[in-house]
Amino acid sequence: MKHADVKWYESGTPCSLQFDDVYFSTDGGLDETRYIFLEHNRLEERFALLAHEQQPKAFVIAETGFGTGLNFLAVCQMWDKYLANTPHKLEFISTEKYPLTHGDIERAMKTWPELTPWAAPLTENYPKMCAGFQKVIINKNISLLLAFGDAADSFAQIAAKVDAWFLDGFAPAKNPDIWSPALFTQVQRLSHTETTYATFTAARVVRDLLAEHGFTVVKDVGFGVKREMIYGCAVPEKIPHRTVNHQSLSANTQVWNKVQKSQQNETQARTATIIGAGLSGAHTAHALAKKGWKVTVLEQEAQIASGASGNFQGVIYTKPASKETKEDGFYLSSFQYAVQHYRHHFSEIQNETIWKQTGLLQLAQTPEDETRLKAVLENNPGSDLMAWQTPEQASEVSGLNIQQAALFYPDSGWVNPVKACHMLLQHENILTQCNQKVTDLFHQNSQWVITTETNQYTSDIVVLASAWESDQFSQTQHLNLTPIRGQVSRLSSKVLKSNGLLSDQKMDIPSPNVVICSDAYVTPTDEGYLNFGATFDLKDTNTEYRTEDVEKNLEKLKQISDDFTPLDQVATEEFDGRAAVRCITNDRLPVVGQINDHPAMIEQYQKLRKDKNWKYTDPGKYHTGLYANLGHGSKGLTTIPLCTDLLCAIINEEPLPFPQPLVDSLSPTRFTIKGLIRNKF
Ligand code: SAM
Repeated sequence: MKHADVKWYESGTPCSLQFDDVYFSTDGGLDETRYIFLEHNRLEERFALLAHEQQPKAFVIAETGFGTGLNFLAVCQMWDKYLANTPHKLEFISTEKYPLTHGDIERAMKTWPELTPWAAPLTENYPKMCAGFQKVIINKNISLLLAFGDAADSFAQIAAKVDAWFLDGFAPAKNPDIWSPALFTQVQRLSHTETTYATFTAARVVRDLLAEHGFTVVKDVGFGVKREMIYGCAVPEKIPHRTVNHQSLSANTQVWNKVQKSQQNETQARTATIIGAGLSGAHTAHALAKKGWKVTVLEQEAQIASGASGNFQGVIYTKPASKETKEDGFYLSSFQYAVQHYRHHFSEIQNETIWKQTGLLQLAQTPEDETRLKAVLENNPGSDLMAWQTPEQASEVSGLNIQQAALFYPDSGWVNPVKACHMLLQHENILTQCNQKVTDLFHQNSQWVITTETNQYTSDIVVLASAWESDQFSQTQHLNLTPIRGQVSRLSSKVLKSNGLLSDQKMDIPSPNVVICSDAYVTPTDEGYLNFGATFDLKDTNTEYRTEDVEKNLEKLKQISDDFTPLDQVATEEFDGRAAVRCITNDRLPVVGQINDHPAMIEQYQKLRKDKNWKYTDPGKYHTGLYANLGHGSKGLTTIPLCTDLLCAIINEEPLPFPQPLVDSLSPTRFTIKGLIRNKF
């Protein structure tokens, strides 16, 4: 990605050197935004009406050309005037080919002090790595999806139902490329019968493209020196009612979900059962509860967060690839979102430390590792997300003697997953039931019937969040889930004291200042415990505590720093720990989305056996109201927040936070498609 080349005039007006045009004028930029985009999309009237609606709704605005974010912030201000304390959400999508740097965004925002309540979280959360799609949290009611790249290309990968368009993007004379038929094809595709638009230009080419793509074209006087502007709305016969598509499995197969939708009643569905009360289940329950769903969480164990989410301290970890891949984009977007999510949800909790943003060092264990980590940096030039550290720098930042070079992620940190689960499940719309092992699931009379050993529950939808055990049902056997046993270890300061390794004056086992990851991980001490781990035993589901695993964890800990060598003096029995089973898939990506009807889809997509490039136009058969959010492996603290956002967007028909190819890569359907292509069944 190339950043914008911005020249600042003395008046404080930013000008793009790429396009030789100003982003806004300092004497009237905000008024211009309000006049052109807000007034001509009738936003004030629409927001005031929405404030009277009870059922939580998402209002979606899409923009071409994010620039400084002025248009977006002006909308935020108006939204919060009418809708701040309502359950409704503003989802603002914007594309940007040449993102402004963090510094330029901050400087631009200084021009409008009245927008500070929204500009401050925007600058704080503005992506440090401007690639792909990045979701930014502004407050509990407002989020921004920034799609970096060309507008037409980005919108082609977006699934959303847009209520209002802001067609910005510099004048057609200065930037003819953006006003292309390809862009308007997408504008038409993403619109519905009540969609409106506004744009500052009245150029002939724009008027013609809008009319050709199903919109009325009305002229009004322009702002300031500009003579004319245009605005309008969808012509219903040309823009049929559409629903958000999340089931296209090929980037080239944009299939609207009309057939599928007619079989479903999700718009009325308001009760959900979540199977599993770990991080994935708790996040999903919380997100749905906030949207007004009545949620029942069923947990087979006696306590919530009893599986892999029951570990003492977990890390927010990402390991970017040394070359750009679709999966890499997934982890980087997830990482940037997860950090904001924890900051937003857990920073303000009184008397509880649920998370700490300490920073994380990823050590290069071997020369090959060092080459690979350097390639990661080269692959992401100009990113503030990570920085190279020499062994001396790594030692300084961690407070330990580190012999290896490292990548440092200043935004990362650790989370107490158990406290996080408790906190997320505390919601008036959530009922958590422990000791409820689900034995059967079936769909009857538009409801799911969920049978446990002692009870029966019914709900409109079911979300499987029970990790490796989620493929036990007839509908989910194709999911290809693999269990991995992992044991974590910990040592209390009491034990250290009794072993003479800790005195009041001197701590011989220094607690790292930051999270450190290599073959193992160690976190800064929390509540008097040094936590480290973990073992990794593929296909082992036994959760008994093993003393030999303590030795394994200790060996790896000593490889991080020889400051840990004195721990050899502590008897193995004095260490504490727990074992749990994580869940991964064969392609290592999580499974997020609606569960497909595997046998029916095999019949429908037979042609894939002979032709892997065959483009199916039928969206295929799915289990109505049955979803998954699982397979997060050991990176759940990083991947679960944005995957939960994806799942809730699918369920509630809101803009999906990932590009369509990534949505496809995460979909449960991929196992059926890939299996057919390989002739596996
Ligand atoms: N809406 C912006 C604001 O509130 O500050 C001002 C937008 S400025 C007039 C136009 C923006 O469109 C610039 O940031 C420019 O980089 C971006 N742009 C130009 N061509 C583009 C393209 N093909 N795809 C996406 N963005 C583009």
